[in-house]
Amino acid sequence: IEPIHIIGGGMAGCEAAWQAANLGVPVVLHEMRPKVETFAHQTDGLAELVCSNSFRSDDDESNAVGLLHWEMRQAGGLIMSMGDRHSVPAGGALAVDRDAFSADVTAAIEAHPLITINRDEIAGLPPEDWSSVIIATGPLTSPALANALLDLTGEESLAFFDAIAPIVYAESVDLSKAWFQSRYDKGDTQEEREAYLNCPMDEATYNAFLDALLAADKTEFKEGETAGYFEACLPIEVMVERGRETLRWGPMKPVGLTNPHQPDVKPHAVVQLRKENKIGTLYNIVGFQTKMKYGAQAEVLRMIPGLENAEFARLGGIHRNTFLNSPRLLDERMRLKARPSLRFAGQVTGVEGYVESASMGLLAGRLAAYERLGVDAPLPGPTTAIGALLNHITGGANAETFQPMNVNFGLFPELTADVRRGRRGKAERKRAYTDRAKADWQSWLTSLPLGQRPAAE
Ligand code: FAD
Repeated sequence: IEPIHIIGGGMAGCEAAWQAANLGVPVVLHEMRPKVETFAHQTDGLAELVCSNSFRSDDDESNAVGLLHWEMRQAGGLIMSMGDRHSVPAGGALAVDRDAFSADVTAAIEAHPLITINRDEIAGLPPEDWSSVIIATGPLTSPALANALLDLTGEESLAFFDAIAPIVYAESVDLSKAWFQSRYDKGDTQEEREAYLNCPMDEATYNAFLDALLAADKTEFKEGETAGYFEACLPIEVMVERGRETLRWGPMKPVGLTNPHQPDVKPHAVVQLRKENKIGTLYNIVGFQTKMKYGAQAEVLRMIPGLENAEFARLGGIHRNTFLNSPRLLDERMRLKARPSLRFAGQVTGVEGYVESASMGLLAGRLAAYERLGVDAPLPGPTTAIGALLNHITGGANAETFQPMNVNFGLFPELTADVRRGRRGKAERKRAYTDRAKADWQSWLTSLPLGQRPAAE
C-alpha cells in the first residue's frame, strides 16, 4: 500500500499517524525539528507541549473537553493513553509531565513497524505524486510551507494571527436588558435581522467600563511573536488608548438601533454581539478582540449591561497562529476542495488547543486510512465532541468571521425539548449532552469498517 504522508509531528500529526498505522496503512511522518526550529518549541521531541502542561478538565460528564478526552480514549488514541500514563496531580484537570509524555509518544511512533519518521521540512507544497497527505503543521507552520499554502488558497483564506473576540453562550445573555436587532434593521429575513444582540450603555457605565479596560492586566506578545496588529483587528484596549471616544465611533457606536426596553432613551454606546454559529447558541462580542488576561477579561466584560451573568464559551485573545479558513476551503472529510489529496488536521484547521488538535488528528488519520483502503466510513455526528468540532470547521461556522475555536457545548445541536424538560439545572443539562455524545460516539465506533481496532498501547 502507498504510504500516507503526514507533515508535522505535533499533537495532531502523531495521533493521525498512530490511527492510520493501526488500521494497517504505512505512514511517513515528516517533522522539521530539530533542523528547523520554531520560537516556541524547545526540544526535538514529537508532540511537544509548547506552553502549559494541561489537557484541561478531565470531567467527561459535564465538560466538553473532558468528553473529548473520553471519546479519544474510546477510539484508542495515543495522545490520551500517553497523557494518562504521565498524568500529574492537578485537581479535576489532566496535567501531564511534558518531557516524559513527549518521550513516550516519540518512542511509540518510532517503534511502530508501519511508521517511518523523516526529520525534514516540507518547504513548499507536497509533491503531486504523494496521493494522500495530511498537513498537521500547527500554529507555527514553517514560513516556506505557509507561503505555498497562501498561494494555493489565496490571502483571504489563510491567517497568520488569530484575533478572537470573546464568545458568549446565548442563553446566558439577559434579554431584559439586551435585544435582538441588526443595525438599521438590515437583512431581508427575520433570521438576518436577529443575527445581532445589543447591549446598551449610559455615559457613566461607558466611562467606568473604559477605566476598567485600561486598568486590566494584559498579556504581552512573546519574543518572536511580535504582531504589528492589523488595523482591522486592534485590541479594544489599544483602541481606547487612542482616545476615549474611539470605541463610540467604532464597535460601540450607538446608531441605527432602538432599545425596545427604553425606546425614549438614546444609549450612549452599544455593545453588539453577532451570531457565531448557524444554530445560534453562541454569540461573539463584535470587535472586542483583546489581550486582557482571562480573569480580568471576564470581570470587565460582565460590566456590560445584559452580560452581568454571561458565560463564556471562549475568552478573547490575539496570538501568532497560522490557520485556514476551513469552512470555506475544506470538504466534510477535511480535504482541500481544490486539491483533495491534501487533508488538514490540528490547529491549522482552526481548532484551538492541544486536545482539540489531537482529536482532529485522530479523525483525519482514520479518514485517510479508510480512503487508502478503499472502504466507506461514516462520519461521526455533530452530537459527539469530535463530530461537533468537525461540523464547526467544515460548515457550521460562518466563513466570513471564522476564528479558531475550543470545544464547547455551544457547538452541539441543542437538546430536544423533551430531554430538556427532564433535565433540571445546568449540571443535568450538561450531563444530557455528554450522555447523548457517548452513546452516539460508541455507535459510530461500532459502525466503522474493519472493526473498531482499539489502538492504544
Ligand atoms: P503542533 O503541536 O505545533 O505540531 C506541528 C508540528 O509541525 C511541529 O512539531 C512543527 O515543528 C512541525 N512543522 C511545522 N511546519 C513544518 C514543515 N513545513 N515541515 C515539517 N514539519 C513542520 N494549547 C493549549 O492547549 N494550551 C496552551 O497553553 C497553549 N499555549 C500555546 C502557546 C503558544 C506560544 C502557541 C504557539 C500555541 C499554544 N497552544 C496551546 C496551542 C497548541 O500549541 C496547539 O493547539 C497544538 O500544539 C496544536 O497541535 P498541532 O499538532 O496542530 O501543532
